[in-house]
This record gives sequence, structure tokens and C-alpha cells, in this order.
Amino acid sequence: MLRERARAAGCLLGHRVTTFPELTDALARDLGASAHVLEPEMAAVVLARALEAPGIPAALRLPQRGLLHELLRVIAELESAYLAPADVAALAAALPSGASATRLGELGRVYAAYEAELSRIGAVDRHGRERRVCEGLAAAEAAGTCPAALAGVGKIVFAEIYDFSILQFLIATSLIRLVGDAELVAFAHAENVDATRFLERTWNRFVGDEAIADQVLPSFVERGGRGGSLAAALGGVFATERPVPAAPDGSIRVVVAPSRYREVEAAGRAIRARLERGAPPERIALLARDLAVYGDLIEDVCRRYRIPVYFRKGRPLLANGLVKACLDVVRCVVEGFPRARLEALLDSDYLGAAPPRLARTLRRTGFVAEAARPLADCVAHRLAALAEEAGDVRLPAERRARAAARRTRLAEDGARLLAVVETLRGLDGPRAPAGHVRALRRALRALGLRPVPRGALVPATTRRDVRARERLEEALDQLAGLARALGMAAMPLGGFLRLLLAALEPLQVEDAAERTGSVRALGVLDARGLDFDAVYLLGLDDGTFPAPRGESPLWPDAMKREANRAAAERLRRKLGPRAAGLPLGGLFRTAREASLEDPFLFFLALSMAEHELVLSYPETNEQGNPAVPSPFLDEVQATAAGPLPRTVLDPTALVPPGEECCEPAELVGRASLARWSQRAGAPPDRLTAALAEARPELARRLAAIDRRAALEERRSRYFLCGRDDPRKDALADAFVGRIPVPPELAARLAAMRWTPTRLEALGACGFKFYAREVLGLMPEDDPEAQVGALERGTLAHAVLEELFRAHARLPADLAAARALGQELVAQTRERAGQTIVAKDPWLFDVAWRRVAAAVDALIVREHAEERTWGGTIERIVERPFERALADPDGGPALTLAGTPDRVDLFRDGAAIRHLRVVDYKMSRSPARYAARIDPARELGKTGFQIPVYLLGAQVRTFPRALLDELAARITALVGRARAGRFDVDPEPCDPYCPYRAVCRYQRPPLEEETAGV
Ligand code: SF4
Repeated sequence: MLRERARAAGCLLGHRVTTFPELTDALARDLGASAHVLEPEMAAVVLARALEAPGIPAALRLPQRGLLHELLRVIAELESAYLAPADVAALAAALPSGASATRLGELGRVYAAYEAELSRIGAVDRHGRERRVCEGLAAAEAAGTCPAALAGVGKIVFAEIYDFSILQFLIATSLIRLVGDAELVAFAHAENVDATRFLERTWNRFVGDEAIADQVLPSFVERGGRGGSLAAALGGVFATERPVPAAPDGSIRVVVAPSRYREVEAAGRAIRARLERGAPPERIALLARDLAVYGDLIEDVCRRYRIPVYFRKGRPLLANGLVKACLDVVRCVVEGFPRARLEALLDSDYLGAAPPRLARTLRRTGFVAEAARPLADCVAHRLAALAEEAGDVRLPAERRARAAARRTRLAEDGARLLAVVETLRGLDGPRAPAGHVRALRRALRALGLRPVPRGALVPATTRRDVRARERLEEALDQLAGLARALGMAAMPLGGFLRLLLAALEPLQVEDAAERTGSVRALGVLDARGLDFDAVYLLGLDDGTFPAPRGESPLWPDAMKREANRAAAERLRRKLGPRAAGLPLGGLFRTAREASLEDPFLFFLALSMAEHELVLSYPETNEQGNPAVPSPFLDEVQATAAGPLPRTVLDPTALVPPGEECCEPAELVGRASLARWSQRAGAPPDRLTAALAEARPELARRLAAIDRRAALEERRSRYFLCGRDDPRKDALADAFVGRIPVPPELAARLAAMRWTPTRLEALGACGFKFYAREVLGLMPEDDPEAQVGALERGTLAHAVLEELFRAHARLPADLAAARALGQELVAQTRERAGQTIVAKDPWLFDVAWRRVAAAVDALIVREHAEERTWGGTIERIVERPFERALADPDGGPALTLAGTPDRVDLFRDGAAIRHLRVVDYKMSRSPARYAARIDPARELGKTGFQIPVYLLGAQVRTFPRALLDELAARITALVGRARAGRFDVDPEPCDPYCPYRAVCRYQRPPLEEETAGV
């Protein structure tokens, strides 16, 4: 505005420019009305204390952060309407009895308690300061004095303040009367009054106040210099009677992007091109209705494209990684140490005291949460299990040594883990907020809190972390001091966390970007009054701009409407002559009224562009759902005589054309695409050579891409071949698991003991075997509090082993046999429990009962069998075996090994009549296991357990031909491994396979998918 005036009238001297809050601050000092002003974050703390006052309804007492903020919003609305707690109480009493009156009464009591707490500590919030200024100015007017801040002021101009509250309006009118000459400047359009309807409420108040009518000059500022489509849009949007549409001249363009990120990229590309043409960066703006949606995207794109950008607002403090890590420390304790939280702390780069490997240790102890089973128990349980394994002479020496080494490591890491948990536990318990703050600082020090440099963003993000930490420390100090002043009682850690979150929520970390020489990234509200040569208005999808306005859950619109009439009456009486001519209807704004602000903000955004405006929206939102274009776009289009220039970005064009690339990575991508897309008629690639010549590192990068693209192409061709396709074998290489076998691996494979588990893994998928057995990549399980099906099987194994070792023959009496089983189940509980990781004792009980039932059922069955057989059944329990298996083709022999759960010899006197290999399985349905012993299905392909045990038992009467065939299959399978054929060629692929991310398997197309191709 000043620029406009300077253009019109020449040099301007003697102007003081100040914001409304700055002016209020100065007036408060002059009027002696200054008190300690609490920022919104600390107001939440005062409110939390106020909610402890007697008479506050229980429903509003819950110290939840959302509730605190909603209550603060309602109190702010009442304060802005110049209503004191007593006024609100009187209003509630004046309303007809019902839900509205009750709710307003409750809110009034909260407001009164809040005010009482503020006055007890001699503080006010921002609205409280405005109220004091308002009253001080009224007193000055009555006394005929003038605050020092107004000394020598001959005229006051209110510019670009669009939405005065009653309180601000009263301050403004007092100032106008005191100064005697005023101007009220609002941006508007001479003809298009509909677009600025939102201003009418404020405007009418000034116009209606007779006392100042001859002292205030309302003036509209119409931004000059706009022409063509821009001028037409300003004159026609939202107008009920539109002027004649103007032919599009390119000053307004529409861009449709496949996603928000691509939308920001398109804007970034255009801005970069402008900057390269010499445009001043300060004259370019990236606007969004709400920067919370676009801030991160803008920052990322501008960093990539090296566009200097200045964010007028900072980022929410609660979104900062370092602050999140600090809060997670508290959350972890409040939530009872759930494993995921504890793991995240151990893994956090911000907390340096504990090595990240402890997260894996935690998992291996089976820890789920302190509430399920304390960590100390889990560690002790695992240590005992490893000690047992290390000392079990029946196990191979190699396995015992491994268990002993693991035990030593766990003893050390377990102690460190327990120390971390003890540090965290130190936070727990009721304390006054200042005590919680001290404890938190102690814990953070012990956990080694530090800002962390990360990747390409090192300096910027580290600086931001440092600033965030300073802000956090400041907020903690303020919180502790204020709580002390309020005399807040001890509260549990959960209450402190909620208070802390409420206090931190409104805070932001300012971005230290340079203002000069930077493109502006602004929310529309923050850009009021500014203008730019080019504006990129992002996020014109319905829901982003306009943004939906919700009703207050505490004070819904219907209740506000009911209270409005009585509130106007009350205020009129309170203001006396100052209320003459003042329209006071609709004091409390409903969601619908608030939503009228968005068209006005859009109008403001349109007006900010002096030469060019680009309106853009994404076709899909963050959830991947189609986005609906904003109705504001239709408004703009309706002002044009033809379609506005529109660019729809191709969703499949992942790399921009060479001339639009803004960073080396995009150029490299473009050059690579040209080399590898193999489109007929594509222009020759000249970019690769240019890039390689320009910078050696780009040449290396291009070569690396070529290498990997060639691999991927070959791998794709391999996967596209069906199993029986003869070309498949020729395409197999190291990248699909076909490797040359070095002597060390050959020796390892030759010495390998081939257990059923290994053979089954190899039979199902060569690569899965390779990942697990050769590379040693062991999948990490997520321990659970309950006992899983596999673990139940392990428990049952442990009991049955004990039973049949101790009792080769069951008692003749069934009841006695069952009693024996039950006794054994009771005796072995503790030992069996060690065969699995630590569990919640209650849930272990449930699983144990199921195990007991399964053991009992087996005893009944075995007992019946013993009776039927008549002779003796000799049960060989868990006896390991090893057996060399010769290769029928003359290759080296292999070692079969295993430990069958049981081998039963059915004896008739000394002679063995039958032999039975038993393997226990716990499953609801036998179908899955039946296939593994069916020669027509999985037996000898992915099912090897029974054949290996039979081969190990050296049976002679088993159908020889089948056994020989199985032996041949085993040697062939092992032969493939020894030849390095760990092909990604599963049969079938396991949908839950943990190696999916590394094997890159792609299912070959089915016949019907390739038909006609
Ligand atoms: S995902 Fe399938 S192909 Fe890949 S390793 Fe696992 S089983 Fe094999």
C-alpha cells in the first residue's frame, strides 16, 4: 500500500508501520496495563491448572491435549467478544434452560477458573492484554489524555486488517477518536463487491459507529497494473453478475499434476527457469492455503533444484525429529515400555548412549512389554535357556559353543538394556511439573541426546535440530516456572506428558533461511498485503482450498446461534453509548460463517500476482484417491472467454525432458531413459556423452546405471520364462542365484550336514536356502506376548520327549497312564517353558493348557495302540543320527543328519516287525502335512523329513524303489547346491518369505496373460 502511495505521491516521510499486536503491546506499556503476557503455549498450562478448580464438570476435566486446545479456542472467542466470565455466567442464566444454557454455564465456569489462575500469578493472555488496552483507552478518552505512543500522530491508517474482533474493533475506534483522523484501507475491487463480502462484517461496524463516522475514511485499494485474464478474474470471481469474460492472455495458467509432489516439482521447474532468466527471487511466491500440507514438499524440491527459498513461518516443533525422540522417551514409560517404543529409542540416532544392536537383543529375549513380562525376567529366561543349551551334552559341540558365546553376549547386552530401562523408569511416578522437567533432563542426558547430522541435508537439518532443542529447553523452563507459580500439585507422568504436548503444540522452529535473494513460500493468510510478479498457487483441490471448517465439538453452531442474541444484548448494555449504531449480531461465528473466509482468501491470493498466476492442483491426494478440483478454479475459468491455458502433466513421464531438467540427477535419469527405453523412432541420445564429458562423477554414475539396467533387463527376461522354457537356464546368472562356487563355499557345502529342514528349504527355493544357510541372513521374528502355534508345538515336543524317555511303556491302566501324563506336564512346565522365548505368564497358562490337552490325547491313542499290538513297542526318542548317502552318479557322498522326534520299533519278542517314524505336528488340519508324505505331491520335492528319517534309520522293508528314488532326489538336489545353482525359481514362492526384498522374484506370466501377445 505504501509503495502504491509513494508511486502516486512521491517520497513518503514520517510513517510508522506497525502490526496490530505490536501496537497493542506499546499501548499496554503506555497505559500501565502491561502484565506478564502468556504466550498461547503456556496458556494451556494455566488452563490445565484451572480445570482442577472445584465446580468444573468432570467431562471437561480430562487433561487431554485436544480438549485443552478446544477449550482455549472457546475462551479466546469469548474474550474476543469482550465478554468477561461474569458476562458469560449471566448469558447462560438468561438462556432458556436446556443443553445450550448448561454448556455455556460450564464453559463460563472454566473461563472464570482460567481467569482466576491468571490473575493469581499476575499474568494475562494475549486477549487479556487487548482487553486491558481497550479499557485503558476508554479511560484515557474519558480523562482527555493520550497514550505516549500516539504523541504526534496526526492520522492512523488501518491497512489489510480483515477480520477485527469486537475487542480489536473497540481498540481501533478508541484510537480513531483519540487521533481524530483515520483511514481504513482494505484491499477490494471497485466492482466486484461479492468477492469481499467477508469483509462486510468488519466494515459495517466502522460504518455503523456514528461517533467515528466523520473521522474515518474508508478506502478500498485496488491493485493496479493487472491486465488481461488477471484483471478479469479479480473483477469476476464470486460475482453474482459477472462482467464480460476476457480472452485468455496467458497471465493465468492451470497446471494439473499427478500428485502433490509432482505439482511442486512443476512449480519449482518453472521458478528455476524464471530465475535463470534473471527474475528477482523476492518477486516470486509459492502460495498455499496451508503450508502444513506443502511446506516439506516445497523445501525438498527447492533444495533439489537449488532454489533459495524463505519460509515466513517455521515448522511445528512437534514435527521435529529430535523433539519427537525426547517425547518418545516419556511416551515409552507412560505406555508401559511397549517393545516397539523401546526399540525405536534404542535405534534412534538422536539418543547415542545405547548401541543400536540392543534393539535386536531386545527382540531375541522375547520382550513384548513390561506389563506382559518384565525385561529382567525375559533376559534371565533367555540366559537360562542358553546355559541349558550350552551344557546339553546330547547336542553337537558346535551348537553348544555357539550357545555359550551367545550367552556371554546376552549377559553383557542384557545388563545394558536393563540399565536403559532403569533410566527410563526413573521418569515414572507422581511429581510436580518442575520435578518431571528435571527428571526428563536427567534421563535425556543419560540416554545421550544429541542433534544428528543426516545425509545430504546435513547443515540445514542439524541447525534446525539445534534450534528445536533450544526451543524445547526454553519451553521446559517456562513450563516448570509457570507450574511452580501456579502451585500445581504432583501429577503422574501421563498427566505431565499431556501438559507438555499441549504446551509444545503451538510452537514452531523458525527457519533461518535468508529473506533477501529468496523466493517466498507462504500461507495465503501470511501473504496479506504482499504482491509479486509471479505467484504459484498450489493445492487447488477441494478440501485443501477451500478447506473444510468443522463445528466446535464443545460449543456447536446451534448453541452459538442460541447464545448470539442474548450476547448482543449483554454487550450492548456493557458498552453503553460506545455500542450506539454498532451491529452486534452474530458475535459468535459458526462454521458456515467461518467458511466464507476461504473465497476471500482466494481472492486475496489472486490479487497478489502482478503479472502471472499459476493455479495448480494434484489429481490424486496423499491417500492415492482421486482429488476433486477446487470450485474456485471454475470461478476463475468463468471469467475467461475461452479455456485458460492448461498443462496436464503425464503421470507416466517420470523423468522430465532434457530441456526441463533442473538438477544433475534428472539429467542423468533422462539420458538413461534415452539409452534404455528403446522406443522406435526415439531421437539419438546426445546427452549421455555431454554429461560424461562435463563431469567424471556423472560418467561413473551413467556407467553404473548401464550396468544395473543390463542386469535388470536380463533378470526380467529370466523371470518371464516359464519353468520349462529351455532359454531360462541360459539366462540364469549370479543375479538370480546361479553363482560360481569358490573353494571355501565348496568345502562348506561338502561338510554340511543335510537335515530335513535344510533339504526342505532347498527344495522349496534355492535362493531362500542360499540367503539363510550360505549368507546367514536370519529373519527376525516379532515376539508376541502369546504363545504361537509353532511354539506350542515346541512345548509339546519337550513334554513328550520327557514322557517317553522316562516311560518306555505306558502303565496298563489308561487312567494311570493319563495321570502319569498330567503329572509330567506339571513337572516339566518350567523346563519346557525355556524351549521358547519368555511369554506373558497368563497367556503362557492358556497355551500350556492346550499343550496338556494335546499330550493327554496322544497318551490315550498310544495306550490303545500298545494294547492292540500286544508285543512291545520300543520308542527311540530324539536320538540324533548321521548317515552318509552315496551319490548314485558317482559324485561325493553327502551326510544326512537329523533328530527324529521318535522312532518306534514294534517288537514281537526279539524280532522287529514294524518300524514307525513319528514326527509331532500341532495343526488344526492335517492337509498341509499330508501333502508332504504323499509321493504324488510334495514327498521328495519339498517334503523330506520322513524320507530322511527313514534313510537314517536304515530300514530295509520300506518300499525300496521309493526310498532309492528319494535318495536319488536328495543327492540331485544337494548336487545342484554344490554346483552353485541357488536359482530364484521357487516351487511355489512362499507368500510370507522374509527374503522377498532381496530375491527380486517376479512371477512368470500365466498362459492366459500372454495369450495373443
Ligand atoms: S520370495 Fe519366493 S523366490 Fe524369493 S526367496 Fe522367498 S521363496 Fe524364494
